[in-house]
Amino acid sequence: MAGKDYYEILGVQKGADADEIKSAYRRLAKKYHPDLNKTPEAAEKFKEINEAYEVLGDEKKRANYDQYGSADGPQFGGGGAGGFGDFFGGGQGFGGFSDIFSDIFSAFGGGEGRGRVNERGEDVYVNMKLSFEEAIFGVEKIISFNRVETCEKCSGTGAKNGKEFSTCPDCHGAGRVRIQQNTMFGTTIREGVCPKCSGTGKIIKERCEECFGKGYSRNVAEVRVKVPAGINDGQTIRMKGEGNAPSRQGINGDLNIKISVANHKIFKRNGNDLMFDLFIPFTTCLLGGKVEIPLTKGTTTLKIEEGTQSGTIMRLKGKGVKILNREAYGDLLVTIKSEPPKNLNRKAKDLLKELEENFNENDFPKSKDFTNKMKGL
Ligand SMILES: [Zn+2]
Ligand SMILES: [Zn+2]
Repeated sequence: MAGKDYYEILGVQKGADADEIKSAYRRLAKKYHPDLNKTPEAAEKFKEINEAYEVLGDEKKRANYDQYGSADGPQFGGGGAGGFGDFFGGGQGFGGFSDIFSDIFSAFGGGEGRGRVNERGEDVYVNMKLSFEEAIFGVEKIISFNRVETCEKCSGTGAKNGKEFSTCPDCHGAGRVRIQQNTMFGTTIREGVCPKCSGTGKIIKERCEECFGKGYSRNVAEVRVKVPAGINDGQTIRMKGEGNAPSRQGINGDLNIKISVANHKIFKRNGNDLMFDLFIPFTTCLLGGKVEIPLTKGTTTLKIEEGTQSGTIMRLKGKGVKILNREAYGDLLVTIKSEPPKNLNRKAKDLLKELEENFNENDFPKSKDFTNKMKGL
């Protein structure tokens, strides 16, 4: 999935607004719908534009795609994408654009004698705040949030004890019936959701008391989340199947956990590198010395060479943040800042003047070089 240019597929500019994307999609879907377009490449093309629209037509997925090149945001471990493209056989998960062409989709997905209506529950979005340390070392947390869950008492059937139902007489349990319909493409016979049983294939005789026949209820769920070491502010952890249960038979949506990371007192983070400005007295820069600095764990002693220039960046290899899902680390970059004294008393001034007289221009080759260049202008 990654690597495809969805904007190009839909023939729109990167900055296109939602309406432009929608109308481009409409136009192309009409053009390549396999019922109307019998050329061999139409089916593949149709699939491709639907895949593109599922992402670009959804604000969140589009933002992720723009930022990470994937609708799912940054990818961790097994949390792969899936979900797309399965549209011809399984017919799940295109709720996002059911407002457009819902007839086409159901007509299309219903072809090959599959079973009852399959639905995908909605995705759930939650936020998680982490301390700086939790983000760089990883952490396990239990989060609780509201989600739609299948009723355990009736196993989602909505019938008392999961038993008090009969097979729908209209669709004989299939959940789908053939319906003649006038669409924008003319009169078609299509297979659609059975109106008698709303696609469940069952007629409930006695309702489940727990869920009042719905088959699901909204509960407070507790989910254990393994936050991987190295996660960064703004990234999202996606847990497949931990979102809402569908209202009918099908699969659960996903749980998307957006991470925000607190600032550290000293470290700034840039990808997997850590950095900070180390202010030291100007005399230490001149004379050299040792300074204790923090690491992610503990501290270390940094040796300052004699005559260190202010602005020098010292790179401590592998002392940064663990790279997600790899046994590798970024670096720690320490920028040396020479700090002049806040106040110079008379004695200090005299000493510095004496010092100044002790040097000539050849002691400062860079300054001298600059002055020479100035003369040549
Ligand atoms: Zn039915
Ligand atoms: Zn129930």
